[in-house]
Amino acid sequence: MVAGTAPLQEAQYYSSQAVAQAAGIPLTTILAWERRYGVPRPRRARGGRRVYSAADLALVQAMRARTAAGVRAEVAARDLLAAGGDPDDRCGVVPTYVPTEVRDVQCLHCGETTGELLRQYMPDGPCTRFVLAHGVLPPRRGPGGRPRCGRCGGDLYAEPAASRSMPPVPHPGAVPSCDAA
Ligand SMILES: [Zn+2]
Repeated sequence: MVAGTAPLQEAQYYSSQAVAQAAGIPLTTILAWERRYGVPRPRRARGGRRVYSAADLALVQAMRARTAAGVRAEVAARDLLAAGGDPDDRCGVVPTYVPTEVRDVQCLHCGETTGELLRQYMPDGPCTRFVLAHGVLPPRRGPGGRPRCGRCGGDLYAEPAASRSMPPVPHPGAVPSCDAA
């Protein structure tokens, strides 16, 4: 017998059923990803039962988010493995494409299209980012910090434009993004 701390007590581990439930996908899909792409590679307990770490679970969730966004499982798995297979490292694992709702931001007063408001559904939650249109003055902050038209100071409004699958936009700039749903 091995003395000392049992490895399984050191961190949170999950059964395959628990992972399937937490990720919201069938267990057969998770097993297929493991068989075909080696993502994730759970440890085996005595008797061969799979035990998944929190990192394994995060990998499965990252796979799910990518495939749901239209990325082929093969490509998603390759990217995740290339990123070191550590989805806890948010900087290292960036989804190739994420579902994105696009809204055009326009000025009510002068009609200038200031840019696009992108609501991106990242694996760890939705994230709203503003992308300034080319050659346009950035919005300025009005009363209460609300962004206003950079040209005339008029009210801005966001109009739903499209739903796309697109790469994540890097960090928002100095422009405050409104977090309206
Ligand atoms: Zn304006």
